[in-house]
Amino acid sequence: MQFEFASAARIIFGDGSANQLPQLAQEKGRHALLVTDSFQPEAVARLIDTLPSAGLRLTRFPVSGEPTVELIDEAKAAAIAAGCDLVISIGGGSVIDTGKASAALILNDGETLDYLEVIGAGRKLAAAPLPFIALPTTAGTGAEVTKNAVLGSKKHRVKVSLRDNRMLADIALVDPQLTHSVPPAVSASTGMDALTQVLEPFVSHLANPLTDGMCTEGLRRAGRSLRRVYAEPDNAAARSDMALTSLLGGLALANAKLGAVHGFAGVLGGMYDAPHGAICAALLPPVIEANIRALKAREPENPALKRYQYAAQFLLFDRSATDRDAMDWISETGRIFDIPGLRAYGLREDDFDEIVEKSSVSSSMKGNPIALTTNELKAILEAAL
Ligand code: NAD
Repeated sequence: MQFEFASAARIIFGDGSANQLPQLAQEKGRHALLVTDSFQPEAVARLIDTLPSAGLRLTRFPVSGEPTVELIDEAKAAAIAAGCDLVISIGGGSVIDTGKASAALILNDGETLDYLEVIGAGRKLAAAPLPFIALPTTAGTGAEVTKNAVLGSKKHRVKVSLRDNRMLADIALVDPQLTHSVPPAVSASTGMDALTQVLEPFVSHLANPLTDGMCTEGLRRAGRSLRRVYAEPDNAAARSDMALTSLLGGLALANAKLGAVHGFAGVLGGMYDAPHGAICAALLPPVIEANIRALKAREPENPALKRYQYAAQFLLFDRSATDRDAMDWISETGRIFDIPGLRAYGLREDDFDEIVEKSSVSSSMKGNPIALTTNELKAILEAAL
């Protein structure tokens, strides 16, 4: 057995932990590029108000929507003009990725595109990133502990990653209380992302014993709390479970990769205006079904088949649960959450060829437990319509 595990240098988790931000930030720099959502919930606004009293200068960079290549060029220019020596992100995955990519590129010359996988020149970072502190306010992406930032390119109609081991945050400060204000529709889509991210690394052929422990713990917590954060937004125990599921998913995916759901999601997110989590929700049941069918037909000895079974048992707290039970539970959850099929976001059969071609070369697709054929990939899209 051989594996490697890398994560944020320091992870601090728990209700109220965000109050440590002024002290922690002071230890890392003097002038922060502060990346936030354009709309700030009260708890975030209150936290930001405490930063100047700690002697920290701030250059604000508000973000709306998922980050693009152009947005990172803008954030980098703002940070250079202000002389920032630290980046802090307080927000959802979009805000965290904006901060993470900016921290990586501020000391590296050229444009963001130069450094991107797949659509860019894939240049390596010459200088190490600036110190980076991430505080998630959604429970979905786990981006506070991953080494990539997902960026959209309008020109290439795709989302790709800027990735480097040194992009892992210096501090991931995960305070579930910051997620209490997330509205039900966002709790639903981000929660589905979190669930996907503890399932895909568990069946990935790159899974290792550390990521296995994280995934099974995340599956248990998602099983008991995913529906509860939607129905009871102020339920602190459920919010805490989902914040932890998201964190565990980030830790697992950064070390064991993902699978076909995320292989597709990057491409679909670049082509249509659909929330990342809603894309995951629509794709998850058909991907599980296609993977299990392909494994049974072509690789019946593949350990992923048993792993799907175990995943169902953790998710449903039931030793007799089958992969079919898990698929039914996930589909039913999507219906409770009122998450539409992908046709609602503009997905059309005419685009299937382009989507399959682009998805096949994505980094996440490489974690899928079995290589799916073009026809199998198209059938997944058809089922997610
Ligand atoms: P998001 O950051 O886009 O936020 C979704 C919405 O929720 C926004 O309108 C935002 O303003 C709002 N919001 C955020 N926190 C809130 C709060 N506490 N209260 C009220 N509203 C709040 O959504 P997301 O799902 O967290 O992030 C999606 C992005 O993350 C995508 O670009 C996706 O590709 C990326 N992603 C990155 C990784 C990674 O490892 N880097 C992994 C998965 C996904």
